[in-house]
Amino acid sequence: MPFDVEMHPHRRYNPLAGEWILVSPHRTLRPWQGQREDAGDKPRPAYDPGCYLCPGNRRAGDAVNPDYTGAFVFTNDFSALLPDTPLEGAASGKELFRYEPVRGLCRVICFSPRHDLTLPEMEESQIVPVIETWADQVADLSHEYRWVQVFENKGGAMGCSNPHPHGQVWAGDFLPRIAEQEDACQKAYAERRGRLLLLDYLDQERERRERIVEENSHWTLLVPYWAVWPYEMLLLPRRPVGHLPELTPDERAALASILRKGLIRYDNLFETSFPYSMGWHGDPSGEGDRSHWQLHAHFYPPLLRSATIRKFMVGYEMLAEPQRDLTAEQVAQKLRELPEEHYKEKPTG
Ligand code: ZN
Repeated sequence: MPFDVEMHPHRRYNPLAGEWILVSPHRTLRPWQGQREDAGDKPRPAYDPGCYLCPGNRRAGDAVNPDYTGAFVFTNDFSALLPDTPLEGAASGKELFRYEPVRGLCRVICFSPRHDLTLPEMEESQIVPVIETWADQVADLSHEYRWVQVFENKGGAMGCSNPHPHGQVWAGDFLPRIAEQEDACQKAYAERRGRLLLLDYLDQERERRERIVEENSHWTLLVPYWAVWPYEMLLLPRRPVGHLPELTPDERAALASILRKGLIRYDNLFETSFPYSMGWHGDPSGEGDRSHWQLHAHFYPPLLRSATIRKFMVGYEMLAEPQRDLTAEQVAQKLRELPEEHYKEKPTG
């Protein structure tokens, strides 16, 4: 029998991060007796007096949220990065005990005053202000900080402690590891080929059409060839774009549409509010040529085979390299075949 990617173990290369992953499609039939998570899918009220993100409520300390109506941004009361870290007296350390002081800040972005909504349950017209806020935060913080990370952590399975729809932005005066890897890979590719890595990749995906989940006139949403998480997706604008502030009004509207449609597919997969970490990668700010960068968003959901069974990155994956069973092609097809209407909108009876 000749080699078949749908049946035989192989490794796939991630050219964006410069990493390999192990794919074991023959394992998809193995029995499962592992941990089941609580899907935590209980109905929520539109306003929760005990939620520190709802309008008018008290946060840590004396801060009180205003009666906001759209997206609302505030400085994280427990920031991981601080703008006034002392730099004086910080020696660079010894070769085997290196460190560097870092400065930055962390903000929280509430997507909606409604405690009971999530992005896929919001109207496109309500998602556009979220996109505007992401772009404004990047524009604002890029003046001072080298890397501005916009992200959303959704669901208890991702360690998100509050179900109120919200995301975060962390800005720092350094290039984090993953940003550094993607920078190096995109730069090397652009120097070698004179073209953008992710746009070349997108062209070839659009010819093959094996891993595309959703498309509109400005954006493509797909399961990347090198996906690690079972239902991982990558979202790309189809023209060269460095970062979110460069998006035109049309592109922002089209982004709201494809985000909503893609996230509805996620929710419909196991008929649960689908947990994930998602975030934007765009060109870093500061000196130097950044024309090799193409804006994109990663979606990393932890669920594996139901609303309550998640994938763990353990054992071989912690010690050697990440591994998956389902292939990216199988997953893209599954996501494509799901209904476009949110499962909660289904007529009952
Ligand atoms: Zn990236």
